[in-house]
Amino acid sequence: MPRFGKKSKEQLDTCNEKLRRVFNEVIKTVDCSVLEGHRDKDRQNALYKEGKTKVKYPSGRHNKLPSLAVDVVPYPVDWSDRERFHLFAGFVLGVANQMGHILRWGGDWNQNWQVNDNKFDDFPHFELKE
Ligand SMILES: [Zn+2]
Repeated sequence: MPRFGKKSKEQLDTCNEKLRRVFNEVIKTVDCSVLEGHRDKDRQNALYKEGKTKVKYPSGRHNKLPSLAVDVVPYPVDWSDRERFHLFAGFVLGVANQMGHILRWGGDWNQNWQVNDNKFDDFPHFELKE
């Protein structure tokens, strides 16, 4: 059974309990890495300047503590493998759903279960409404 590494655990520990529960379940089946949970002001605004996020601090869900958003990728990550991100996200959303949590994924922001109408792809990103 796959297990999170130290860095993944540290990042997941900064997240809301629901996100922690979901990904602690996901890791039992699919090996994955938690890239980032909570994001401080400097980091958020640096990413904003790079165009990697659409929101400035403190509007992002990563800016809450515990974090309401988490960035997770299948391990080992291959950024060019779009289909693998979609498969992974489908699994994550399904696991969350089974636990009674609705997550919003960065590959389907409007949550219409269509991926071709997504304007800003952020495949590692999963967030909670509250
Ligand atoms: Zn994110």
